[in-house]
Amino acid sequence: MKLHWKILIGMLMGVFIGLLVNESFVLPGVLGDFLGKFAFVRAFAIKVIQPLLGPVGSVFIKLLKMLIVPLILASMIVGVAKVGDVRKLGGLSGRTFAFYITTTWASVVVGLIVVNIIEPGSGAPALVSEVPEAAYSAVSVWSVILNMIPDNPIKAMANMDILPIIVFALMLGAILTTLGEKGKPLVSFFDSLNEAMMRLADVVIRLTPIGVFALLAEVVAQTGPGIFANLGKYMFTVILGLSVHAFVTLPLLLALVGRTSPRKYVSYVSPALTTAFSTASSSATLPLTLDCVSKRAGLSAKVSSFVLPLGATINMDGTALYESVAAVFIAQVYGIDLTFSQQLLVFFTATLAAIGAAGIPSAGLVTMAIVLKAVGLPLEGIGMILAVDRILDMCRTTVNVWGDTVGCAVVTKLQGEDIPASIR
Ligand code: ASP
Repeated sequence: MKLHWKILIGMLMGVFIGLLVNESFVLPGVLGDFLGKFAFVRAFAIKVIQPLLGPVGSVFIKLLKMLIVPLILASMIVGVAKVGDVRKLGGLSGRTFAFYITTTWASVVVGLIVVNIIEPGSGAPALVSEVPEAAYSAVSVWSVILNMIPDNPIKAMANMDILPIIVFALMLGAILTTLGEKGKPLVSFFDSLNEAMMRLADVVIRLTPIGVFALLAEVVAQTGPGIFANLGKYMFTVILGLSVHAFVTLPLLLALVGRTSPRKYVSYVSPALTTAFSTASSSATLPLTLDCVSKRAGLSAKVSSFVLPLGATINMDGTALYESVAAVFIAQVYGIDLTFSQQLLVFFTATLAAIGAAGIPSAGLVTMAIVLKAVGLPLEGIGMILAVDRILDMCRTTVNVWGDTVGCAVVTKLQGEDIPASIR
């Protein structure tokens, strides 16, 4: 059986088991009566399966995380060293950034359009709950830039600070190309490390069906149906916006500019997308994203090893869209009418907040403070949408990773490299 089918089964089983062990989930009517007769099944699931979910999900995430630092370091150094000429690197990075920024802007525009049309916040009650501590010390533009440069690369690696590792790897890779013979041993060392890490990623990818099963079951088990009552319309707006971006904008770009079939491509990268969905972390997903794009779909490793690690930290279409919808939603709830220029401010700051967000769960929720502060909205708004953040985080992270993989195909094409026949 193909891997993506196994993953789909894992996801469905996860939702099923999650609902089964969630005691606040009660089926109405005859169906409920019928299931009531099988209460022992539920009791069994709660006693035996539920305690296993957390540990199994953690093992999966830890295996992924274990690969991140060596993989980013090795793949970026080798990628840059293989490009060879620093001037060529300029072309690659120019195209990559152009893709990142246009797609991020496109997604924010979609977000602003849907939230202004649907108006999920007008008439909704302003729920009060606690704001995450980190939001008060949210990053400024300068701190985002300064944090990109590591003062100690080993410390950055130990802390898994991805952006500084990338900056270090880029510089090291570029300089190695200028060393001639002297640089070769180090390049081949990292080449070998890269191959080994990719092979390990190949092993971990086979565990995806079990990993997504456990992670999804846990989320569903902890999410009561009550959250849909107050924030249902808001969730619908975010998910609608994300869907337009994921199913219309990105596939169009992929087909027209990247000359790649969205349907074929998605079947190769689906393990990464489903992992993004269940882990809500672009960074944790990165080893699988690299594996899916370069090994499974067969795109050039030269391009993917540059585009994907960078994309996992700074190209977040889903997060940008979510931040713009959430900010306007909060304004609507508080009855604050945003002028056109304030919405323009949301547009720019949401882009910035998405770039500044790390590829970890809930990062976007915290950097949203940048947007709220800029337009003078109350930070308490963040507390209000906290309850549904996990689910929306899963959806936006999937779009973030999908945006990275699409970017990889488009940039590959723009670089004049071949798109394999199997995904054309
Ligand atoms: N969890 C997202 C990601 O890893 C970031 C966010 O919170 O929006 O891509």
